[in-house]
Amino acid sequence: MEFGWPEAQRKYRERVRSIIDRDLPEDWPEIHRHGLASPEQAKAGRVFAGKLAKEGLLVQHWPKEFGGGDGEPWEHFILGEEMWPRGEPRGPQYMNVNWLGPALMKYASAEQRERFLPPIIAGDVIWCQLFSEPSAGSDLAAMQTKSVRVGEEYVVNGMKVWTSYARLAEWGFLLTRSGPARRDITILLVDMKSPGITIRPFPGIVEDGHLHEVYFDNVRVHVENRLFEENRGWEPVTYALNYERVGVQRYQIIHDAMHQAVKELKRRGTFDNDPLVQRDAGIVLAKCEASRLISYEVVDQRARNLPPSEDASVARMSAKECIMAFNDFVSTWMPEVLSEEPIGGDWQLSWAHSFTIASAIAAGAYEIQCDIVATRQLGLPRGA
Ligand SMILES: Cc1cc2nc3c(=O)[nH]c(=O)nc-3n(C[C@H](O)[C@H](O)[C@H](O)COP(=O)(O)OP(=O)(O)OC[C@H]3O[C@@H](n4cnc5c(N)ncnc54)[C@H](O)[C@@H]3O)c2cc1C
Repeated sequence: MEFGWPEAQRKYRERVRSIIDRDLPEDWPEIHRHGLASPEQAKAGRVFAGKLAKEGLLVQHWPKEFGGGDGEPWEHFILGEEMWPRGEPRGPQYMNVNWLGPALMKYASAEQRERFLPPIIAGDVIWCQLFSEPSAGSDLAAMQTKSVRVGEEYVVNGMKVWTSYARLAEWGFLLTRSGPARRDITILLVDMKSPGITIRPFPGIVEDGHLHEVYFDNVRVHVENRLFEENRGWEPVTYALNYERVGVQRYQIIHDAMHQAVKELKRRGTFDNDPLVQRDAGIVLAKCEASRLISYEVVDQRARNLPPSEDASVARMSAKECIMAFNDFVSTWMPEVLSEEPIGGDWQLSWAHSFTIASAIAAGAYEIQCDIVATRQLGLPRGA
């Protein structure tokens, strides 16, 4: 047995790196400082994603019949490993290729695929995820935003919260309650400029402008924009969430940031003779490697077309472990990273901290992942 990348994938990674080096604008650190959810980065992201698309790299992992390159999920992962530590130059469009596209490929009608996939493939559209509500986060099926069918339209009323990128998005992947049973959920693909939608940003633990409340007041969505069947939206949602859980290579952001942290501490002369800081750095890096290997397990299952498993939850848990170890490390050994100012001219350290801080909550809270693993993987009984 040999653990390592085959030659073709090594070359692929080199190609991705050279394209990033070639195509990232010179003022990228400046653009990036506005934040992943800023109009500045979204604009730069469109240009960059467009270039990736022209190189055949944006949706390389999608099947050819849907406009991809028939690549392996591994290549998509390599792309993410190279993008995230550089501040995610695709901007919010990473979501399109991670979970939205796969959900559309599996559940959309032929006409919907023709309409919605080309802009994603070209790197020229921003979507947002309209799932969570004030009383429906972990317990997503408790959502209350209602859709009522009236003739050829659905009329939507309610409110979503925590929506990342809402003010930038052209389209929303909206979950609505459409019947009395708990899982009577209907997914609507909603034009975010529709009359009756109000978007309000609110501050949060991530950058300002990232999170929003989205209100729906008699918003009309044509039935042709319903994804899959009425009242059967739960199935595409769980499918999409499995993709989302390992969609951001957080271990790689932390891995690269840790190496920069060590470099900076060495420059300051506070690393080489201090066994405590060395031990702590080793712990963070070991957790990164554990998280990487568990994530690879999930990719391997995907590459072999196995059904989604609870390992995606284990991968999310391991990512949180390495992030928390990193945050402990920086708050102990270089707390100034917690300020927004770049350290030693290096913006990637503070980015790693500020972006990953919400990792125990976003895309499914840590405790919920523990619950999934405990009950479904370990077969433990549910608590009272
Ligand atoms: C940065 C960020 C970006 C986000 N972006 C989006 C987005 O774009 N679109 C979107 O729809 N949502 C988004 N979310 C929302 C996210 O999915 C929810 O915050 C998450 O699902 C948790 O839901 P909640 O906030 O309602 O917390 P709750 O579900 O109320 O949970 C609160 C706490 O209680 C714990 N808890 C809850 N139930 C249980 C249980 N059964 N057992 C043990 N512990 C439990 C949770 O683990 C958590 O620690 C985002 C969140 C963040 C922080």
